[in-house]
Amino acid sequence: MKKQIVILLGAPGSGKGTQAKTLSADLQIPHLSTGDLFRENMSKETELGMLAKGYINAGQLVPDEVVLKMLFARTKASDCFKGYLLDGFPRTLPQAESLEKEIKEDAELIVFNLEVPDDVIVRRVAGRYVCQSCGLIHNLGLAPKESDKRCHKCQEPLIQRSDDLAEVVANRLLVYYMYTKPLVEFYVKKGVLHAIDGTKEPDLVHQDILQYL
Ligand SMILES: [Zn+2]
Repeated sequence: MKKQIVILLGAPGSGKGTQAKTLSADLQIPHLSTGDLFRENMSKETELGMLAKGYINAGQLVPDEVVLKMLFARTKASDCFKGYLLDGFPRTLPQAESLEKEIKEDAELIVFNLEVPDDVIVRRVAGRYVCQSCGLIHNLGLAPKESDKRCHKCQEPLIQRSDDLAEVVANRLLVYYMYTKPLVEFYVKKGVLHAIDGTKEPDLVHQDILQYL
């Protein structure tokens, strides 16, 4: 059987993380995210981890070269023999091209694009309020009443995280599309991209994805 390399594309707030978790469990392949790779390499103080830490501490982006080395070291581990699932990678066209070079003929690449309209994402993310006391997440929509901003469980006041504000979310989406549009086109041309309606319930989205695997 061919090794399956599954890529999940989707804007922040598209539900990509949730899908990645269930898919990885269903297919029994590891879920690799660049954030986890950074944390792992930094806590083990590997050479690449220390290099990445330097950039992060200086407030700079970790260069592609370092990200790629970390990722390709990880994909050679024995638990990746059946394949692996990539979440948050590739983010740019050059990263996709490097991945292309790394993949051998015995591997099949399958890409899913979780499509969710911007206004739905903004409503999902910008309506998110967190209890200061117990951490419970509430979805209050875009213009909640002051009286609703109390925790359902412990009645403490709810607050909004600054990166969940509508304006911040809209900005993050713009940046996302700027980088991923060429990426989507690249995979469409290769004939490996499946568009998935990400507005459905997570269970249904999961079923839609499984049809192609
Ligand atoms: Zn609470």
